[in-house]
Amino acid sequence: MFILYNTLARKKQVFKPIGNTVTMYTCGLTVYDYAHIGNLRSFLFEDLLKRTLLLNGFKVKHVQNFTDVGHLVSDSDEGEDKMEVGATREKKTAWEIADFYINAFKEDFKALRMKEPDHWVRATDHIREMIELVKKIEEKGYTYLTEDGVYFNTLRMKGYGKLARLKAKGLKAGARVEMKGKRAPTDFALWKCSPLDRKRDMEWASPWCTGFPGWHIECSAMAIKYLGETIDIHCGGVDHIPVHHTNEIAQSETATGKKFANYWMHNEFMLVDGKKMSKSLGNFYTLKDITSKGFPPTAFRYLCLSVHYRSQMNFTLDSLRDAENAVKSINDFVFRLGQTRQENGTTHEMRHSIPRSKKIESALKNAKEDFMKSINNDLDTPNALAALFKLMKTVNKEIDSGKADRKSADAVREFFNDVNEIFDIFEKEEKPLTPEEKKLIDLRESFRHQKDFKAADEIREQLKGKGIILEDTPEGIRWRRIMKDGAKV
Ligand code: AMP
Ligand code: ZN
Repeated sequence: MFILYNTLARKKQVFKPIGNTVTMYTCGLTVYDYAHIGNLRSFLFEDLLKRTLLLNGFKVKHVQNFTDVGHLVSDSDEGEDKMEVGATREKKTAWEIADFYINAFKEDFKALRMKEPDHWVRATDHIREMIELVKKIEEKGYTYLTEDGVYFNTLRMKGYGKLARLKAKGLKAGARVEMKGKRAPTDFALWKCSPLDRKRDMEWASPWCTGFPGWHIECSAMAIKYLGETIDIHCGGVDHIPVHHTNEIAQSETATGKKFANYWMHNEFMLVDGKKMSKSLGNFYTLKDITSKGFPPTAFRYLCLSVHYRSQMNFTLDSLRDAENAVKSINDFVFRLGQTRQENGTTHEMRHSIPRSKKIESALKNAKEDFMKSINNDLDTPNALAALFKLMKTVNKEIDSGKADRKSADAVREFFNDVNEIFDIFEKEEKPLTPEEKKLIDLRESFRHQKDFKAADEIREQLKGKGIILEDTPEGIRWRRIMKDGAKV
């Protein structure tokens, strides 16, 4: 049973998909700058959700967009288009800015081991679909024109603001919202006209004026196109609840007459040193800022997964260091288990002859139950991790006292492989040594016995060049491969 918190209902619900394949739409990055670590938290939460669905045996069809036009600096349809802000800042065109930051984002995505969506979709590739959708809304009588563009009439829509529990009628045109021809502060642009005195980098002809789409219409148009009129799950950060997602619902449900998404899921914000991230405070981090300090991406991945997605998360470098150590201890543990499998290896900590460890068997059974129960309870990763660490403690003790048998160790390793389907912080299987690598390890061993440490060290360096690290332990030599991002397997 997979339970998730549905923002729409404001409670946890048992997840029931519409069909055989779960349809999932995740609001993507506005590509006018690098993603900051708060954005990345949001995408890591969505990756966790998708992986948990897959672990539960669901098929998933996932679409994520790139907002490359129409997201204005202010949420109330005022100010500059963020893409134009980026273009002016970097003296490039908005198109060049979009291409550059899409590529940069895809690199971060890969480094953080997130599973690619089935479709990456760009707003600017779907202008035709957006215009068609606005026409449908217009035909139904929910729009009006101002000199600035086409606006959605929120006062006409019964149930507007249900996601955020807003009441459009109750909101007066406050001093903070510039109305500029809008009839209600909650009304929003579906299509904006280009300024008369200037040609924009990104503008298109439309039945109303040459211009560009309002920010929200892209997600409605692309979700409907790729996933259908009613989708299973729609996600994003909590900041999207009152405006972006509220307006996506208004547009989509007006156009189709159907419920837009059954489950709405939102991650809480990431703060840095207890404050909102901002360039002026100097606490604005990208993934590169973190990796250039020597942290592997897996440490950040683990850090985000160690905090429940609906809790605010306070990022500090100390917490990242703790996360790096936790990843290392899990890797060390998995490595220790894996050593028993190395038929060609140099050590056998646990031997066939030892009877099956009852302690490991029962600890493993409990850990499996606790892990699945936690992860399926609205993605409760902190509790799922607690179950893992408890198991690790028991198994390590059994290994230390020579009571761990190989079969139990294999069963634990198998469970960790399943866990890694969610956490993805170690390599699935240690690639066995090639005959040549094994020969080198044996040769080094014989040099050591002859006390020719210089020759032994040379071979150690040679193996390091091949990505194999040797460790001399009281139990004998251990080897491990190094992962691409520098974290040890
Ligand atoms: P944007 O590029 O602004 O559209 O944001 C991309 C995603 O990141 C959205 O789902 C936002 O809700 C989310 N987001 C933005 N800032 C933060 C933050 N500080 N913490 C967590 N999520 C965030
Ligand atoms: Zn969106």
